Amino acid sequence: MKWENKGHEFDSDAEKIIQGFKDHGEKVYLFGAGKIGYEIGLAMERYHVLGGFIDNNPEKQKEKLLDEHVLSVEQYLKKQNRGWIVVTVAGNRGNEIEDQLTDLGLSKGIDFFHYEDFTTYIFPILSFYKFGMLYTDITQISLTERCTLKCRNCAHGCYAVGADSKDLSIEEVYDSADYFFKYVDCVREFVLIGGEPLLYRKLDDVIQYIGEKYRDKMVLFSITSNGTIIPEKKVLEMCRKYHVLFRISNYSSTIKWLPEKYEQLQKVLEDSGVQYSMGSPERQWMDYGFETVCREDQEEITRVFDSCKTPCREIRGNKYYYCVMARSVAENLGFNVGKEDYLNLKNIENKKVFFEFNMGYSEKGYLDMCGHCRGSEAVEYPIPVAEQAKAL
Ligand code: SF4
Ligand code: SF4
Repeated sequence: MKWENKGHEFDSDAEKIIQGFKDHGEKVYLFGAGKIGYEIGLAMERYHVLGGFIDNNPEKQKEKLLDEHVLSVEQYLKKQNRGWIVVTVAGNRGNEIEDQLTDLGLSKGIDFFHYEDFTTYIFPILSFYKFGMLYTDITQISLTERCTLKCRNCAHGCYAVGADSKDLSIEEVYDSADYFFKYVDCVREFVLIGGEPLLYRKLDDVIQYIGEKYRDKMVLFSITSNGTIIPEKKVLEMCRKYHVLFRISNYSSTIKWLPEKYEQLQKVLEDSGVQYSMGSPERQWMDYGFETVCREDQEEITRVFDSCKTPCREIRGNKYYYCVMARSVAENLGFNVGKEDYLNLKNIENKKVFFEFNMGYSEKGYLDMCGHCRGSEAVEYPIPVAEQAKAL
């Protein structure tokens, strides 16, 4: 979206959201006591607004999560102070839950929300206008564009990067964190990424610097790895010390030698007391069409941007990028566009400008790379997972 009323773009939505929150007892119930629910629950705990969990599974209703009871829908409906419900289940099962809630007389957008709408729209506004805190959902630092795999259609274009490509210097990494946290009060997940971030030589120093200064501003501090490298001892120590979540992407459906690596890695992480999350085997990726799509019509590019809603931002020195893919693909594949598509944190008027940029506003209203990307329509172009550009 193009800035039309800079500094006030969300004033009227904020009033409605705050009123709706008040009408629902200023509490949030997470429907789905699984991984997504747990991670959003951690954020709600920070704001002291977690009411509890709801789940249709009777086994889960016997358990507690984050010290809160897991209720059935019937138990939730009997409550005097019913909070907002956030459906934290993806895909068809999530749609079924939304139908279940609608059949019970609850309304989407008033009584309940899908978790993606909640974490990227409703909650950031509530956080900023009611709690006076700038909240962002996911922000990444891409330490290196080098990788141990060469996935065709890598969404960051890392297959085009040579082993001699220059990583961010340690000073640039420190600057990135300092600029970001100068403005942001709470980030749901702050991610060290690549390429393969374990190729970064001073990863332990990075974790220590960011963990020491800013861990209390992050709900989750994570590393996303393709699982091909066993971390060094000093990296493991820092991960344990600063509660870094080690996320392992799972490409075992395509690369047959990976499961053995994953096993070794999981054992090392367990023995070192590092929390980790092993992804389920990925079944398909989508083709964003970076090398084939070429749009020139500004209205069409704006439409693609507005419907995209990617949650992944990137901080790189003083530059805050709305879309980590746009920045990395433009650089790694040599597109000569989007060089100004960032918010310069060296000279912004105030925190509200950061907030609105993070919510999708800018002077232009789109990113140049959206002219070379399918955005939300990429789901209609499935491709195999992690197919390698060269035989490994
Ligand atoms: S593992 Fe594949 S998808 Fe991930 S950064 Fe490396 S090349 Fe890209
Ligand atoms: S449409 Fe634009 S913002 Fe969305 S993923 Fe593509 S380049 Fe990024």
